[in-house]
Amino acid sequence: MSRSPPVLPLAPGSTIGILGGGQLGRMLAQAAARLGFDVAILDPEPDGPAARVSAHAITAAYDDPKGLQALADLADVVTYEFENVPAAAVAQLAALGVPVAPGPAALEAAQDRFVEKSFLNAHGASTVAFAPAASPQEAVGAMEQVGAPALMKTRREGYDGKGQRWVEHAPDAARAFAELGGAPVILEAAAGFRRELSIIAARGRDGSTAVYPLAENHHEGGILRRSIAPARVVAAVAEQAERIAARVLAGLDYVGVIGIELFEMEGGRLLVNEIAPRVHNTGHWTLDGCEVDQFEQHIRAVAGWPLGPTHPTARVEMLNLLGDEAQGWLKFAQEPESRLHLYGKREAKPGRKMGHVNRVKPL
Ligand code: AMP
Repeated sequence: MSRSPPVLPLAPGSTIGILGGGQLGRMLAQAAARLGFDVAILDPEPDGPAARVSAHAITAAYDDPKGLQALADLADVVTYEFENVPAAAVAQLAALGVPVAPGPAALEAAQDRFVEKSFLNAHGASTVAFAPAASPQEAVGAMEQVGAPALMKTRREGYDGKGQRWVEHAPDAARAFAELGGAPVILEAAAGFRRELSIIAARGRDGSTAVYPLAENHHEGGILRRSIAPARVVAAVAEQAERIAARVLAGLDYVGVIGIELFEMEGGRLLVNEIAPRVHNTGHWTLDGCEVDQFEQHIRAVAGWPLGPTHPTARVEMLNLLGDEAQGWLKFAQEPESRLHLYGKREAKPGRKMGHVNRVKPL
């Protein structure tokens, strides 16, 4: 049964639902608690990082109607910590009268790399050349369009560099297509970028926007290792990034925080690599380097509160602690410039994000 929509801005004491219970959900829950909200987590796994710091935890598949009903019974508004939440789950929550932010347009764009890049280009945000393929023959044909070498990516469900293959010569595209499992892909021209940057931006329910200073990001094996922020960029690059963010936020009628990954090309032109309709790993530096961090900003936006200031208060080097690296917690705790954030994951697997350290320096 549907119910009347919540009164916004949401008053402290209300409950915010979060689909997904990993580290992003945990840091969102901590920010929500600081503002006086209770949090209800829905995640298929019990006892996750977010559930352990939240008032309510529902263990259910994202598309389980009973689990979603239980979340709707608890939560006044719902958000999510990752973009592969099934569209049907968001639709069910909306039908039950619980607003979900960011909305379905953002999910649709972020779940499919072809839809995403088409959306970006249609809204004046440039990307590398790309072409879709749904068969080995089409993959070879797509190489003709984008040129070699090209990066083949599955259209859906890739993250941290998974579901990707470089293709050096057009005929090799057929084999790469099979290796990626025969699912629909896109082929992307090689970006040849100078640096990887990102911009974290936010849009409130009233359409107001805020952007954070850019971060410079370093990946290894497709996984983010390190961000430095505010990145040293010329004004023209910062302005371009802000223009891109404004177009994306307006184009998606967005509510919440978004992460936009950028390639800085020689000459300073920016291409968008991808958008993440959620708080973003390259925004973790804001926890210790900005007046209002990305997690609080997201909670403010979805709760219909005014957005907070995004000015930097420090220069931060953010290091992801992967796998066993988190065992160095005592060393980091002894460094006066380091702020340690651990996610409380029970098991360290190679490459698994266990925490991060923000090394804080004066601006
Ligand atoms: P993605 O999963 O799309 O975020 O890609 C992961 C990483 O692969 C990026 O952060 C880049 O380092 C690299 N990458 C992705 N797309 C391209 C491209 N078209 N050309 C060159 N490198 C890329």
